[in-house]
Amino acid sequence: MGADTFVYAIPLRTRFRGITMREGMLIRGPLGWGEFCAFPEYDDREAAGWLATAVEQVTVGWPTPVRERIPVNCTVPAVGPEAAGRIVRESGCATAKVKVADHPGSLAEDLARVAAVREAIGDGAIRVDANAVWDVDTAVRNIGEIDRAARGLEYVEQPCRTVEELAEVRRRVPVRIAADESIRRAEDPLRVAVAGAADVAVLKCTPLGGVRRALAVAEAAGLPTVVSSALETSVGLSAQLALAGALPELEFACGLGTLALFEGDLVADSLLPVDGWLPVPTAPPDPDPALLEKYRHPDPERVEWWLRRYERVNALLEVD
Ligand SMILES: [Mg+2]
Repeated sequence: MGADTFVYAIPLRTRFRGITMREGMLIRGPLGWGEFCAFPEYDDREAAGWLATAVEQVTVGWPTPVRERIPVNCTVPAVGPEAAGRIVRESGCATAKVKVADHPGSLAEDLARVAAVREAIGDGAIRVDANAVWDVDTAVRNIGEIDRAARGLEYVEQPCRTVEELAEVRRRVPVRIAADESIRRAEDPLRVAVAGAADVAVLKCTPLGGVRRALAVAEAAGLPTVVSSALETSVGLSAQLALAGALPELEFACGLGTLALFEGDLVADSLLPVDGWLPVPTAPPDPDPALLEKYRHPDPERVEWWLRRYERVNALLEVD
């Protein structure tokens, strides 16, 4: 392994996206370190956007921000009401994102969870994420009940799978709809907006190919944007914060408080929210040598796999 690349493995506190260990790479360029952490199941073409984000970070840097700090939401997984209330209170965040529709027949649990979050957050904002599992009629029915239990939702994220379904739900409920999974590919946001499918766009700059690219996507979508994490360490998260810092308008809290999901970080001054806020960095953070040692990937075969992947994806970028 060269001095300009580093492969890490950091345990997650709880299973997330079916994984318990986050793997990825740091790469070094003239401006410092960037992070290449496309999920392992993504093919090289899909991973190219992730690497482009790291390359932007270490070669040209980010556009000038228009704000210095970013409000973030706390995340409430599919837990019972007591745990949900505790997570909200301990976070200090004024916005909570609550997982709903975790399993079939979960509505009663969802209602108890959002009611407990309302108790804990007072006048704060509550958004829920259904991760595309409802059909249109179920979405309309459940959103009505959850909105009542929450005494007002900020928005519902991805209630159904397709853009057409989102548009129909949006016509039938008085609650704002946010598109997340529907905006994974860069050409989709326009379609989402044109179809009248969403009031809010959830964007992650890491897979989109950098801060500038994500700013262009946000502008094309023409919707209020929420910047959301792709489960990066502080090195990669700094690009997402740079995006949130550079958006002309930022109406809603961002989903960037995700380092709390990690057992550790590669940076000593970790980008963990304080009272629900994160700073907008002006330069990539420097990894800490002791933390690099601690989270150096222990499996030589996986290290090889990442280095080969990096070479292949880098070759794709150079062709493009
Ligand atoms: Mg989502």
